Amino acid sequence: MAASLAALLQARGYNVRIRKFDPYLNVDPGTMSPYQHGEVYVTDDGAETDLDLGHYERFSGVSARQSDNVTSGRIYQDIIAKERRGDYLGATVQVIPHVTDAIKAFALDESEDLDFILCEIGGTVGDIESLPFMEAIRQLRNDLERDQTLSIHVTLVPYVAAAGELKTKPTQHSVRELTSLGIQPDVLLCRCEHDLPDNERAKIAAFCNVRKEAVIPALDAESIYAVPLQYHAEGLDDEVLRGFGITDSKEPDLTRWYDIVDRYHNPEGEVTIGVVGKYVGLQDAYKSLHEALVHGGMAHRTRVNIKWLDAELFENEDDLVTKLEPMHAILVPGGFGERGSEGKIASIKFARERNIPFFGICLGMQMACLDGARNVGGIENASTSEFGPTDNPVIGLITEWQSKDGMQLRDDDSDLGGTMRLGAYPAKLNNNSHVASVYDAQDIEERHRHRFEVNMAYKDTLESGGLIFSGMSPDGSLPEIVERPDHPWFIGVQFHPELKSRPFDPHPLFASFIGAALKQSRLV
Ligand code: GLN
Repeated sequence: MAASLAALLQARGYNVRIRKFDPYLNVDPGTMSPYQHGEVYVTDDGAETDLDLGHYERFSGVSARQSDNVTSGRIYQDIIAKERRGDYLGATVQVIPHVTDAIKAFALDESEDLDFILCEIGGTVGDIESLPFMEAIRQLRNDLERDQTLSIHVTLVPYVAAAGELKTKPTQHSVRELTSLGIQPDVLLCRCEHDLPDNERAKIAAFCNVRKEAVIPALDAESIYAVPLQYHAEGLDDEVLRGFGITDSKEPDLTRWYDIVDRYHNPEGEVTIGVVGKYVGLQDAYKSLHEALVHGGMAHRTRVNIKWLDAELFENEDDLVTKLEPMHAILVPGGFGERGSEGKIASIKFARERNIPFFGICLGMQMACLDGARNVGGIENASTSEFGPTDNPVIGLITEWQSKDGMQLRDDDSDLGGTMRLGAYPAKLNNNSHVASVYDAQDIEERHRHRFEVNMAYKDTLESGGLIFSGMSPDGSLPEIVERPDHPWFIGVQFHPELKSRPFDPHPLFASFIGAALKQSRLV
């Protein structure tokens, strides 16, 4: 919702930022299982954030920052650190005002050049954990001028099939709950499966104390990229601007949204990509990857069918061949831990030997190096120290690297949370390499989230295994990209290019990868 509204405001020429408040107690989602929480989205400035920030970036085109996602855990961590330092000068530290002040400060931080800040509160009205956030928002509505804030409440209008009826009661109840917290919504966005008839809209308006035009039906869209157009057709952005007393806004320029929706819904080609990973049971675990593949498809007006394949099942060679043979390209994504790694390495070997386009991301790149070292370079027990002690750590722990904040040092005993090599780092690409032609550049900057790296002590082994290091950190110490010059499309990257892909600006690696899959589809 917030992402689509941001897109509409931006299409009218406004500067917008979106912020997500997550009421849970983890300091950030970095240590949470992708199964519980979906992917961890990493920003340029190295924050591990909620995956909604990825939607915000993809829809608004604005790069998210550390200051765009906060959890109760982070707020409390900061407050308790201040309390221990004695910064409160003897005061009793309380939810109101200390926690609520911290939330309000967060909401308004770094807002100088902005026309709108959109704050989304996670969870549901009535959750115990979200109360301080609701209270902070309530206060903010008094702290700022009258027409400087607006509250949008997303509600559900379920359709009861047996009775053939839409039910407005759940909406009435959640609005009542919200008003009991002191927040009267100005706009209601009603999620519904069926059209909201005029009389139901009027009923909701009357019971919930909002204008009828401010009851916006939000029907399930054909695709997420069609949502901004749909909300615009229902009048969401007009209603929001009206709430702020803005009457002279020009109509939004939605050309690029019409273009991507057209590319997505009217493809001229089709490819099937096998993603061999670990968290294949939950698509949100690979949200950005999924979207980046779709964007790559948009670049070629091609439908991308993604087959999520469980790497663990590929330890059996017959299964692997039956499942992978129909694929036009194979991708091994990022991940953590040993489970499924043999299946990933076997899939990479399959792609390498059969000249099928292969894309390895982060752990996928590391596994491509293990395939090279073991199956071509002759070091049969090559491994990564992530999976336990090994005589041949072709992949090893990064113990020091240069970051914008100075030298970073880590060892085996470092904390797990927030201690990886995180965020945007530059890389230099080799002249004449495949990646340099894909990027059409020699200097790139991509986002990282990893603890291990290719061990350059094994450079010669890997090169004799047919891999070349075509991208390195500018000081030449950290390997960023490997590729196989004797293969049609075989690239492994230590970073996460999927995080920077946008529908109207598909990432060059994904666009090129889908192009290679298209070529492959014409061969088979
Ligand atoms: N587990 C690997 C590491 O920490 C890869 C991480 C990833 O794929 N994001 O280096």
